[in-house]
Amino acid sequence: MHPNDTTRTDRHDEVGSILSAASTRRLFILGSLALLAGCTTTRTSQDLPGVIWTKGATAPKARPTPSGMPVDDRGVIGRSTWAKGNPIPANMNRMVPVKRITVHHDGMDAFTSTSRSAAAARLERIRRSHLSRGPQKWGDIGYHYAIDPAGRVWECRPLTWQGAHVKNQNPGNLGILVMGNYDRQQVTVVQKKAIDAFISSKMRQYGVGRRDLHTHQELAPTACPGRSLQGFMVQARSSGTFG
Ligand SMILES: [Zn+2]
Repeated sequence: MHPNDTTRTDRHDEVGSILSAASTRRLFILGSLALLAGCTTTRTSQDLPGVIWTKGATAPKARPTPSGMPVDDRGVIGRSTWAKGNPIPANMNRMVPVKRITVHHDGMDAFTSTSRSAAAARLERIRRSHLSRGPQKWGDIGYHYAIDPAGRVWECRPLTWQGAHVKNQNPGNLGILVMGNYDRQQVTVVQKKAIDAFISSKMRQYGVGRRDLHTHQELAPTACPGRSLQGFMVQARSSGTFG
C-alpha cells in the first residue's frame, strides 16, 4: 500500500462496493462511459482512479501571476480557454506539495490533429466524461495538464486541487495527459520535445527526480499510456533526458 493510502474510506472504495452490488446494466453503462474518454477506464472499473478524501491538506505555494496561473506556467494555455464549466471544489481535495509526476494518454481514438480547436474540444469531451463518471461526481477533469499533438501544453485541473488519475495514488501526484491513443499512434518528434521540456520544467519546479517520474502502468494495472508513449518514456528516462 502506498504511504499516502489511509484507512479512511475513500471515494474509490465506495465506488467499488457499489459496483460489486450493481446490476449488469449499471456495469454496462459504466463500461460505455469508459469507452468515451479516459486512460483509466480501458479495462474494468478497478482501473478507475480514486479520489482520496483527506483533511488538513494544504495547497502548494504557487506564485501567482495577474492571470492567476503560476509563474512557471507561462506559455501554458489556460483552462478557461477550453473548459465549459468551472471546477467543483466540493468534489475535490486540496493538493498537497508535488512529489511525483505521472504520465497518461487518453486512450480514446487516435488523435493526430494539430488544430488548437480540436484539442480544446477533446479536452472538453474528456472533462465531461470525468464529471459524469461513476455513482459519485468528480470535480473536474482528472489531469493537471495536457499536451496535444502539436506540442501545446494546456492547463487542466488547477493545481490547487488534487488530481484524479491514479487509483489511491493521487496525493502530491501531478497528472500529465498526452492527448491521443499511443497504442494506435506514434509519439511524434514535436510531442517528444514538448513532453521533455514541460516535464523537465515541472521536475525542476517541484524538485521531482527521475525515480518519481512515472507512467500510469508503472503504478497500476492499465495499458495507459500505450505502447508508443510507454516506450518513449522508458527510453527517455533511462537516457537521462528528463530533469
Ligand atoms: Zn492513465
